[in-house]
Amino acid sequence: QKTIAILTSGGDAPGMNAAIRAVVRTALHRGIRVLGVRRGYNGLINGDMVEMNFLSVSDIMHRGGTVLYTARCPEFREDAGVEKAKETCIKMGIDGLVVIGGDGSYRGARDLSLKGIPCVGVPGTIDNDISSTEYTIGYDTAMNTVCEMVDRLRDTSQSHDRCSVVEVMGRKAGYIALNTGIGCGASVILMPEVECDIEKDVIDKIKSSHKTGKQHFIVMVAEGIGGVEDIAKKIEAATGIESRACVLGHVQRGGAPTVTDRVAATKMGYHAVELLEQGIGNRVVGMQCGEVVDYDILEGLKMVKTIDMNTVKIAEEVAL
Ligand code: ADP
Repeated sequence: QKTIAILTSGGDAPGMNAAIRAVVRTALHRGIRVLGVRRGYNGLINGDMVEMNFLSVSDIMHRGGTVLYTARCPEFREDAGVEKAKETCIKMGIDGLVVIGGDGSYRGARDLSLKGIPCVGVPGTIDNDISSTEYTIGYDTAMNTVCEMVDRLRDTSQSHDRCSVVEVMGRKAGYIALNTGIGCGASVILMPEVECDIEKDVIDKIKSSHKTGKQHFIVMVAEGIGGVEDIAKKIEAATGIESRACVLGHVQRGGAPTVTDRVAATKMGYHAVELLEQGIGNRVVGMQCGEVVDYDILEGLKMVKTIDMNTVKIAEEVAL
C-alpha cells in the first residue's frame, strides 16, 4: 500500500485545514495511507506524525489555523536536516509528501524531492505572494477580515472626523493592501510595488479632498511600507486632521475560511494527491485563470508575479 504524508509549514492561513481534509479524504478514497506530520518540517525530522483517517479530518473544514500545527524549521535549511527527514520518510514508508506553505517551504520540498522523496507544494499564505499561482489559500479570508475591521474603523473615523492609517499584512507584497483598499474605500493605498511620496501622494490629496468637504479618511498601508505611526503624525501635522494609526496584526491570519478559500484549498489538495498517486514529485500546485495547474518546483520559484497596474489605476481614480 502506498503511503503519503502531509504537513503545513511557514505562517498559518485560514483554509489550510480544508486542504488537509481534501488531501486525506482523496488519498483514503484511492486506498492510499496518509500520515499527518506535526509542526512542519520539524515533525518530519523527528518522526512526529500520526496516521489520519476519515474522522481525523471531519469538522475541520470551517476552522482557521491548522490542526497539524505549523512552524519554521531552521534545521531543514541545512543538508543534514533534509537528510534526517529523508531517513524518517524511508523508515515510515512514506512514498510522497504534500507540503502546504509558501516559497520557503517550497524550497525545502525541492531539497527533499532531490533526495528521492517526491514532494508536492500547495500554496498556503494569506499574503498571496507566491509567484507560481494567482491565488493562495487564506488570501480571500484575510481580505474579508481586513474589510470587516476597517469598516468598523470607518464608523468611528467618520463620527470623529478622523483619518485612520491602517497597516495590513502582505510581507513584501501589496496584494492585500490594494484589494482591501478598494474594498474599504480607502482614500490612499500605499504598497511596495508603487512608488510614493508622502507629501504629494498622501498629504496633498487629503488636503484637497478636505477642502471639498470630506472630513474622514482611510489610508491603507501595506506591511512592506510600514511606519503607520509616523505617517499618521505627518498627516495630522500637515492637515490638522486628527489621525490615528492602527496595525491590524495577527487577527488577519485567523478566523473561519471563506467559501473561496475552502474550494481553492480542496481543489489544490485534491490535485496534489493525484500527482503523488502517479509518483510525480518536485511539483508545486497553483491556480491560473481559475484552473488548477502544476509546475516543476524550481520553475515555479523562478516565476515572477506582478501587481496588476490597471487595478492600481482604478483604485486611484475612484479614491478621491
Ligand atoms: P513560507 O513557507 O511561508 O515562505 P518560511 O520562509 O519561513 O515560510 O519557510 C518555512 C520553512 O521552510 C523554513 O522554516 C524551513 O524549514 C524551510 N525552508 C525555507 N527556506 C528554505 C531553503 N532555502 N531550503 C530549505 N528549506 C527551506
